[in-house]
Amino acid sequence: MTVGPQDTFHNYIDGEWTPCHSGRTFDNINPADTGDIVGRFQASAAVDAQAAVAAAAAAFEGWRALAPSRRAAILNRAAEHLEANADSIAAELTREEGKALNLSKDEVLRSAQTLRFYAVEGQTFTGETFPQDDPDMLVYSQREPLGVVTVIAPWNFPVSIPARKIAPALITGNTVVFKPSSDAPLSGYRLAEAFVAAGIPKGVLNFITGSAGDVGAAITEAPAVRAISFTGSTQAGEQIHRAVPMTTRTQMELGGKNPLIVMEDADLDKAVDLTIKGGFSLSGQACTGTSRVLVVASVKAAYTERLLARVRTLKIGSGMTPGMDLGPLATRKQLDNVLRYVEIGKQEATLLCGGARLTGGDYDKGYYMSPAVFTDVTQSMRIAREEIFGPVIAIIECADYADAIAKANDTEYGLSAAIATGNPRYIHRFANDIQSGTVKINRTTTGNLVNAPFGGLKRSSTSTFRESGRTGLEFYTQIKTVYRGC
Ligand code: NAP
Repeated sequence: MTVGPQDTFHNYIDGEWTPCHSGRTFDNINPADTGDIVGRFQASAAVDAQAAVAAAAAAFEGWRALAPSRRAAILNRAAEHLEANADSIAAELTREEGKALNLSKDEVLRSAQTLRFYAVEGQTFTGETFPQDDPDMLVYSQREPLGVVTVIAPWNFPVSIPARKIAPALITGNTVVFKPSSDAPLSGYRLAEAFVAAGIPKGVLNFITGSAGDVGAAITEAPAVRAISFTGSTQAGEQIHRAVPMTTRTQMELGGKNPLIVMEDADLDKAVDLTIKGGFSLSGQACTGTSRVLVVASVKAAYTERLLARVRTLKIGSGMTPGMDLGPLATRKQLDNVLRYVEIGKQEATLLCGGARLTGGDYDKGYYMSPAVFTDVTQSMRIAREEIFGPVIAIIECADYADAIAKANDTEYGLSAAIATGNPRYIHRFANDIQSGTVKINRTTTGNLVNAPFGGLKRSSTSTFRESGRTGLEFYTQIKTVYRGC
């Protein structure tokens, strides 16, 4: 059944689907057709958020005492639910966020894969034993859950990002308060629903919608919250990080300004392909999206010519229409912000194509723009330094490998970086030289595996704990060291 303005979605607190105290709701808007309301959600306030934290705190002892195999069974059943409903959840994701339907489906299935991964890995994640001199003593470390964990997610991956936070939190025995983005709350609701369908005990997972201004402090600054896993803008992440008590552990996965280096020996068609996929899929709204292309001078003209030829063929339309290369931007705020950066770029550099709001026909209903390519970009320009988070590529000329690395690293961010080259010397050196948490060689800056660590360096992350993979479990546990004599 298609969700619409007649559907009001509740919070899930202490095992009950409940409206917020004020009874107020907000609308979830389809960015491809802004007249389409994809359900109404609770405009919660601090009092609702406090109830969610209290429920999670009350459920903690019971959940940590539950056998890991039973916790794992719940994760597996939630994964089954996501898989069984992947088509409908994906269609809703596309409707509320704008990305292509096939990408939404991939995301839902990858989220199920994440739950299954942690159901296995979490059961073998433990401490160590330490050799020592006393034959009558055993020294070992044990890992324990932290308590209440707050999970805050952005709109661009509204299922997979919370899934990779909630699954390791739950399997290690923590309880969770989950707040999705106000711009894509339905996907988060469906994820919470999967856990409810899987039989999660009351209070163990609490789902609350509402604006950051209304519920943010209550779910981040409360003393009962022992850890916060946040993905979103650097500005918001740093603000939360500064505001929380010292005893609250934080994992902040934040913005990026990701470079692709194109060397003189690169296969230029492949380099163009990496640029298009990395820079324009998801309409440039991936944290790991390519936004700077650092091209060695000798191939700059040829690369730029081939890139423009490809950009002109890109199809822009609703994510529901098969074959579209770019969908709408996710929100009005996103569109305005990206167009503002295009204007800034026009003052600083040379706009080669795109960068305009699209109008006429179905475009009038949504937040569509043409992908922009700038050239003659230099390091000091704002479009070379600030995260734009849209379909905008800045081409920067480099003299050689050393110059390209220096320019790539000349940024406050360090999330993902790629190089296009066949030269074994560059391939060998790149992983060491680049200041980035994810390093790609002849691959797009975007994309990461469920079973490998993910996270940024510099202002892209708190750089404390990594997400994803087995490493992703570390954030959710604390270590005790035990000296056991006879
Ligand atoms: P955002 O505005 O920072 O919001 C992210 C989430 O945080 C939303 O749920 C938001 O709630 C909430 N929030 C904002 N301020 C808060 C506060 N003070 N206290 C508690 N919650 C708060 O980011 P966005 O626009 O959704 O996402 C785009 C950003 O995310 C980009 O900068 C992108 O690079 C980054 N991102 C990073 C990664 C990564 O892994 N490094 C992945 C994806 C996206 P409301 O929706 O209610 O405002």
